[in-house]
Amino acid sequence: MPDMGTKKKLTQVEGGESSSAAQAKDTKPFVASDESKAKAKKFRIFSIISWIAAIGLEVGAILMLKKVPVNTTWLIVLIVADLIFAVIGNLLWKKANRFDPASEKEPFKFFVQNQLGAIIAVIAFLPLVILIFTNKDMKGKQKGLVGAIAVIALLIAGFTGIDFNPPSQEQYAQQTAQVEQLTGQNHVFWTKSGQRYHLFSDCYHINTRKTDEIFEGTVAQARELKNISELCNTCEDRWKKEKGVFAEKVEPQAAGEEKPETAPEAEETITE
Ligand SMILES: [Zn+2]
Repeated sequence: MPDMGTKKKLTQVEGGESSSAAQAKDTKPFVASDESKAKAKKFRIFSIISWIAAIGLEVGAILMLKKVPVNTTWLIVLIVADLIFAVIGNLLWKKANRFDPASEKEPFKFFVQNQLGAIIAVIAFLPLVILIFTNKDMKGKQKGLVGAIAVIALLIAGFTGIDFNPPSQEQYAQQTAQVEQLTGQNHVFWTKSGQRYHLFSDCYHINTRKTDEIFEGTVAQARELKNISELCNTCEDRWKKEKGVFAEKVEPQAAGEEKPETAPEAEETITE
């Protein structure tokens, strides 16, 4: 069954086509479009500003430790503010990487670029944690409370800084090639809350009553905008099956006909 279309609002995402040249049949290297690179740059700048703010707040907290008696409330406020900026920086950084992914061919750069948030988290919290636990002016209970908050902040910042599914140029190229091999074009559908991209706009996973908007664009755009990195199995099977059905239908018809030469004539008499 071909794509019967959908009654949902279809939102075509602008641009992107130039990035990975839709026509290619083989896996060719992925190069982010200028538009995507510009977006990545913007996110990276905001991310770095956020991280600098986080580290600045950590320095503020460290200075706070030297003022005796140590003010517990202010210390906690500074740690929480440090955490907020660290997490914002982490999320923006990971988003930037989806717009302009690193190449797996350079493992060190690939690791640092994708996990930089976790590295920054250590810088933004570990010195503070150490100075809290080695501080001689704080009482045991106060030290325990502030220290515990700082450790939890370190863990949250570190966890949000890790990219568990880091985007790579090779992955983009491979997934784009997979879709192009199946359908002949780099064109997929996805929804706001979906985890997979689809080949058919009427796939029952996305064409549900709950959905009122379906997005369409390139494989890279699905990743850039919604961090979707997997093809819907139902759509994949459906494409393969339909291709198979078409192939089967054509062959037995030609072979099964008793006199294939007379077939066009027979068709004409039917239409008359
Ligand atoms: Zn699907």
